[in-house]
Amino acid sequence: MKNKSELVFMPAQGMGHIVSMVEFAKRQHDQHQRFSITILLVKPFHPPSYNLYVESLAVSDTGFRYVHLPPPLPLPPPPQPQLQPPPEQLVLTSPEKNFSDFLESYKHHVRDAIVNHVLSSSPATTRLAGLVVDFFYTPTIDIADAALTFLFFPSGAAFLGLMLHLPIRHTELTVSDPNSVTHFPSYANPVPTSVLPAFLFNKHGGYTCLLNHARRFREKKGIIVNTFKELESCAVKSLVDSTESPPVYAVGPLQDLAGDARSGSDREEIVKWLDEQPPSSVPFLCFGSLGSFGPPQVAEIAAAVEKSGHRFLWSIRRPPPQGVFETPTDCGGDYDGFLPEGFLKRMENRGMVCGWAPQTTVLGHAAVGGFVSHCGWNSILESLWVGVPIVTWAMYAEQLSRKERTW
Ligand code: UDP
Repeated sequence: MKNKSELVFMPAQGMGHIVSMVEFAKRQHDQHQRFSITILLVKPFHPPSYNLYVESLAVSDTGFRYVHLPPPLPLPPPPQPQLQPPPEQLVLTSPEKNFSDFLESYKHHVRDAIVNHVLSSSPATTRLAGLVVDFFYTPTIDIADAALTFLFFPSGAAFLGLMLHLPIRHTELTVSDPNSVTHFPSYANPVPTSVLPAFLFNKHGGYTCLLNHARRFREKKGIIVNTFKELESCAVKSLVDSTESPPVYAVGPLQDLAGDARSGSDREEIVKWLDEQPPSSVPFLCFGSLGSFGPPQVAEIAAAVEKSGHRFLWSIRRPPPQGVFETPTDCGGDYDGFLPEGFLKRMENRGMVCGWAPQTTVLGHAAVGGFVSHCGWNSILESLWVGVPIVTWAMYAEQLSRKERTW
């Protein structure tokens, strides 16, 4: 019998993390027939679109094994609890730390799943060839042979370079001066401190948590990054040349272009509406899985699209209530009290608002001529793929976010 090799993938929850990893797994499966693939899944906090995508995977014909991990075990209390805000506040003051703690709490389940589902149920001729883990899962390095573990980085090479440089920057940093600049080797130009991602300034555990992840990046056998060298030549070169990094593999762009499984319920109506619009006439406004605005800003955007006189397609989601950490929710067609009075009536022949959009389908539609985006890495790749220019509105995660600044 021919020897088989088992590859285990551990995506972090969130559309921006899981899709590219699953696409990478599919490629490994198609190109190297000897691999069996297992994907370990955790249940997300809230997002329904993620759940739909995961459900669709389970019934798809990928031939993968999907293991749903049971709910996590409670984490031991931190050594100095008084330095940590309680969990319900941490989730708001430092989403990154909260997200990391949540995934770390799955550590034992991950070990059990590998032992019980992968190793013991595979034929004797199967060997564990590798673990591919999202970068938020660096604590799993403790449970697997480091020589088998590859880090998967769903963002770009420039940001990966920023992360890899954090431990060095940390030892050199004396003052967090907003007017200073940082020389990250992966960026062609020095970066003003004022435009760095918010987590670098988070004093509630966010910065320390990402720094600790970054410290562990270099323990991996290799780093797989969803980019390509023609797009980020300077960044990819700096990573390949770096002595701080394990081997880096630029394998992108990894995209689910059909995207049917994560289209959302408005798909047909949106495509029908776009079919009726002239070529390149519609700007598409969409802000990722976490982007949302409160009523005052929604009113400003509505006034802007109305005054512009242009057609538009606008994906709107309602923000969670103040002080609650949840993902934004679709309005289900009910925009009363959220959009300005009469806006939908006045715009009915010119624009369309919707909830979760079939983004890849929309961007690839001939009627769409521009994209107003929060600049999540997947959104950037998807837009570049079909040549739609982006109006950038950076908001969160690896992007600048003024909201969370402490200075
Ligand atoms: N997406 C979508 N419909 C939406 C919003 C997002 O299909 O209404 C998809 C988008 O195509 C992309 C992913 O969700 O693949 C978002 O990933 P990205 O890295 O752009 O941003 P994130 O949500 O991780 O901040």
